[in-house]
Amino acid sequence: MRIVLFGPPGAGKGTQASMLAEKTGAEHISTGDALRDAVARQTEVGLKAKSYMDKGELVPDEVVIAIAKERLAKAGESGFILDGFPRTVAQAEALDKALDELGKPLDAVVNLEVDEEEIVWRLSGRRVCPNCGEPYHIESKPSAKDGICDKCGSALVHRSDDQPDAIRNRLKVYNQQTEPVLGYYESKSILKKYPSCWQYSGH
Ligand code: AMP
Repeated sequence: MRIVLFGPPGAGKGTQASMLAEKTGAEHISTGDALRDAVARQTEVGLKAKSYMDKGELVPDEVVIAIAKERLAKAGESGFILDGFPRTVAQAEALDKALDELGKPLDAVVNLEVDEEEIVWRLSGRRVCPNCGEPYHIESKPSAKDGICDKCGSALVHRSDDQPDAIRNRLKVYNQQTEPVLGYYESKSILKKYPSCWQYSGH
């Protein structure tokens, strides 16, 4: 399995990717997770990326392309699921080139479609465990004990880029810089479209 999970922030790419990775053994490659890890460890990449991420802006192409290439080179025979990469046409072109060199072309790009009102509701209520990654939602999937992860007992966080101003900016950035990537893949006839039905979205 060699796929890209595509869609706006809050479409459920991370949730779907980790379920698919568990089922298939494919490598789940999330540039957002890799960047958050770099920020937490205060590496050079993390220090560079933090200000972009806090505002909901894209981290420069060369930084994320390097992260994605390193992870792709390590993916085994079961393949990979890219989550949150590529987000610009330049990233998509770099991905094609890297996969050509590895002799591992993409099978499909899956676009998870979801409307903006739903995205704002999902992201503003989202809480995440910084330790094990388990996602929660304050209305539709609250933790049993307020603010504490059911799985590992860590304190849940409200991501700085899940605050209202950053959400609005992420949606603007998605519409301006990321959506054009769909046209790129449509022209290659590997784009598949799915409505994103989040099992917890009961509002
Ligand atoms: P995510 O967890 O995928 O929503 O990513 C969180 C943040 O990390 C984004 O809002 C960007 O600031 C940054 N980021 C993640 N992936 C990329 C990418 N492919 N290109 C540029 N910035 C990225």
